Amino acid sequence: MDRFSEFKKNIRRQVPLAMHTWFQLGGVAEFFAEPKLEEELAALLKRCRELQMPTRTFGYGSNIIVSDAGVRGMVFRLTANCFTDIRIEGNAIVAGGGAKFGRVITSAVHAGLSGIENLIGIPGTVGGAIAVNTCAGSGTVSQRIQKLRLVNPFGKIMELTSKDISFGADEFDLQEMILLEAVFELDEEDPTELSKRMQKNWIIRKTTFPTGQCSGHIFKNPRGESASELIERAGLKGARSGGAVVNERNPNFIVAEPECTSADVLRLIDLIRNQVLDRTDTELELHVQIW
Ligand SMILES: Cc1cc2nc3c(=O)[nH]c(=O)nc-3n(C[C@H](O)[C@H](O)[C@H](O)COP(=O)(O)OP(=O)(O)OC[C@H]3O[C@@H](n4cnc5c(N)ncnc54)[C@H](O)[C@@H]3O)c2cc1C
Repeated sequence: MDRFSEFKKNIRRQVPLAMHTWFQLGGVAEFFAEPKLEEELAALLKRCRELQMPTRTFGYGSNIIVSDAGVRGMVFRLTANCFTDIRIEGNAIVAGGGAKFGRVITSAVHAGLSGIENLIGIPGTVGGAIAVNTCAGSGTVSQRIQKLRLVNPFGKIMELTSKDISFGADEFDLQEMILLEAVFELDEEDPTELSKRMQKNWIIRKTTFPTGQCSGHIFKNPRGESASELIERAGLKGARSGGAVVNERNPNFIVAEPECTSADVLRLIDLIRNQVLDRTDTELELHVQIW
């Protein structure tokens, strides 16, 4: 721990990550840091760089499968107040990278600001939503980003505006940077109407998500096709490996039963990929990330 002696208070070793992920599976983080200030996060990143130690950041772990072997290096979680603050500034909402995205949406709706309410009910933080470019139907989080504040692996804090940011087909490659804060540009709308629309979206979403321990969609939709339909066509609804089961309602989700391990989930993912390729000639690409 001497390598991090001055950060000691906010760093722990061998921390189980399962409790921090939606799947509730996986091993430990070699180092786990919850810095209290931006400057501390920046200094820690710089130290990790000097030590050539790999770093990762996670939000609510709703799009991650942590392997049973765990994660080498430093894992960051942005839980301190300075990373979770949310405020309204005119037609914009400003939110910390660790803020719960659902809370950002409800704050915007209550202030009569529209543009992100269709994403209600999708679990995660602002950082996770932007890294994954969370989407629902044709609406993506990237459409409303005005500005991002990030810290790079050298500990340098920088700002990007929407014209500097290029989102790929699905994701925004943060290139090892950590998102500190995002500004979303929104439109004024009647809060009562907006609130009704948000509630409708929320109810629809809750009826389509599986109940039980899971992550988000396992695979991306291949162009013009639905991963869920391809898995169903391959006859894999309800297929299992150990405690991991392909969800009956939406086969692009895997649900973990008691005693499930990450290895069970990863074996099931391989099985789905191979059988979908054999039976439909389509190669499925992962949406969920494996750590
Ligand atoms: C039941 C269920 C339904 C879902 N439905 C949808 C859906 O309809 N649409 C959709 O798009 N997604 C969906 N997801 C997936 C997931 O909720 C989203 O992708 C979410 O935005 C991930 O946020 P998170 O904070 O949990 O990120 P995590 O899973 O913790 O991390 C995801 C990625 O973001 C990076 N990251 C997190 N925080 C930061 C940060 N501050 N700086 C830099 N990088 C960061 C991580 O390193 C990782 O690469 C669903 C998930 C579940 C469990």
